[in-house]
Amino acid sequence: MSPRLNLIVLGKQGAGKGTQSTVLSEKYGIPHVSTGDILRTAVKAGNELGMKVASILEAGDLVSDDIVNQLVEERFQQADAQRGVLLDGFPRTIGQAEALEGMLGEDGIKLCINLDVPIDLVTQRLSSRRVCQECGTTYKDADIEAISGTCSNCGGDVIQRTDDYPEAIRTRLMNYERDTEPLLSFYGSRGLLVSVDGDQGPDEVTDEIMKAVHERGLA
Ligand code: ADP
Repeated sequence: MSPRLNLIVLGKQGAGKGTQSTVLSEKYGIPHVSTGDILRTAVKAGNELGMKVASILEAGDLVSDDIVNQLVEERFQQADAQRGVLLDGFPRTIGQAEALEGMLGEDGIKLCINLDVPIDLVTQRLSSRRVCQECGTTYKDADIEAISGTCSNCGGDVIQRTDDYPEAIRTRLMNYERDTEPLLSFYGSRGLLVSVDGDQGPDEVTDEIMKAVHERGLA
């Protein structure tokens, strides 16, 4: 069997991790594992996990490492994850990165892609984005008027995520700086980090990432 392609997409909230992860997951045939999506699904389902984490997500705070690590470990057991995974939003603390090394063993992370976007731009992107409550499609400010509150993909209601309210955006970006930015050195010191300019069109960003993956002989 060919080696697993385990990739991490790292970057501030609003850097475009979700958009790039969706495209790359399709191109490389590996599942897009987004801890944010898993947690939001649990909140929507109102199950035990969802009830535990709902207020944390709403405030834009981080869920505990124990909970998130366990979710990811369970996700890795599923059949589609055996060829590799595309991690979006995980790890986001050093504790999670260390736990991830334990989970993957020798066949570890092949590349950590950092989407580099200035803070002013992500703040503006987050405050103007809207998402479909049903299917998760994201809309940028330019598209919002055209769809007038109804998802063009599934017809669901398009809303503003509560963690995209100004106070929660501030909290999330502060948490990023404190807890997640240290991962740049963590993966940099292992020779596994590549930084890509995220302030360009989505297709250009994808091309740059794929070039970096190809140059390393990973795909
Ligand atoms: P964003 O990165 O834009 O904040 P995500 O969808 O990745 O959005 O995450 C949404 C929320 O889910 C986070 O604000 C946090 O509360 C929780 N979350 C997601 N991933 C993690 C993680 N790896 N560790 C802790 N909390 C997480």
